[in-house]
Amino acid sequence: MSEFKTENLEKVRKAVNVCTMCGFCKSVCPSFKEIGWDAASSRGRITLTYGILNGDIPVDESVIRNLYTCTTCADCVRRCPSKVDVVDIIEICRSDLVKNGHMLDKHKAMCDSVVKYGNPYREEKGVAETLGVERHKAEIGYFAGCTATYRSKETSRSTMSVLKKLGVDFTVVDELCCGSVLQRVGYDQDYITTMFQRNIDAIKELGVKTVVFSCAGCYRMFKVEYPKYVDVPFEILHITEFLAKRDLELKPMEGVTATYHDPCHMGRHCGIYEAPREVIAKIPGLVFKEMEYNRALSHCCGGGGGVRSAFPDESLGIAATRLDEAGFADIMITSCPFCVNNLASGKGDRGIEVVDLMELIDKLM
Ligand code: SF4
Ligand code: SF4
Repeated sequence: MSEFKTENLEKVRKAVNVCTMCGFCKSVCPSFKEIGWDAASSRGRITLTYGILNGDIPVDESVIRNLYTCTTCADCVRRCPSKVDVVDIIEICRSDLVKNGHMLDKHKAMCDSVVKYGNPYREEKGVAETLGVERHKAEIGYFAGCTATYRSKETSRSTMSVLKKLGVDFTVVDELCCGSVLQRVGYDQDYITTMFQRNIDAIKELGVKTVVFSCAGCYRMFKVEYPKYVDVPFEILHITEFLAKRDLELKPMEGVTATYHDPCHMGRHCGIYEAPREVIAKIPGLVFKEMEYNRALSHCCGGGGGVRSAFPDESLGIAATRLDEAGFADIMITSCPFCVNNLASGKGDRGIEVVDLMELIDKLM
């Protein structure tokens, strides 16, 4: 057995020593609820991490599976009374697994695509060309993100349509993948940092002062992760923050009951809970009702952390749980193309419609 190489053993040891094994994290872990084994719970994963890093636990398929079925939703971090940053430990472990040659084929294919094409979808055309928009100097930049550009095109189209209807002079950006996909699965941070800087330089070139995002994952990257590695000399806003303070004239939606799903990247990772609700409150006639688990307590959609691509059954199982919590609603609104995709894919024969807030607002404008 070859030795597992790591520079993180002390850091992980300190974090794991703080854990009292109380299990509060496990009580909220969506992947544990889906899989049912302690090794696939928050505390199980940090214990596994310590065992892997100190060489006690050999890396095999089950170990990889337990580490990579975490959606990085961070509900465990919220719940932990000892303030153990479980997600940080899991991501350290993933990064060390990759450094030691253990990477899932699905994740390797995505990362290779980002390196070759600048997006995880093997798309050769750039973002601006795909969106069919010219770049120009402007104070507002729209960072569409790979998913809304190449897959959930209605989200990018609606976001740009809303900005146009409001008379906002905005430009799209010559963007590369924001880096979230790579960072979540443990790819080399030095390489990811070069991508960060490349995106920052491309935005700077356009004279942009405020960058708006329709993807919760890209938003979290620029708001929280980029500043750890590069200077971010712009205001960073999710499109819902941009719209919350504006007057919107919207057609009414009478007789419809809606609820809102907080994307983990936007909610627990960035603390943005009120802006989307303020935008939804502008829709006349709409009956809005919260799910029991909302804002910081929101349950994950199951789509994040690389889980959807590598473990689709678990991912869809988590989505089904979240959808069942919204059984009273006609529509579930959210603000992230990943959440929309995963929830819509997991809805089965449930009557609920899952919709991105920008698509809804564009239709009502
Ligand atoms: S909640 Fe915190 S202290 Fe309790 S088992 Fe989980 S990580 Fe450990
Ligand atoms: S981040 Fe979410 S999925 Fe991962 S261990 Fe914590 S609660 Fe479970």
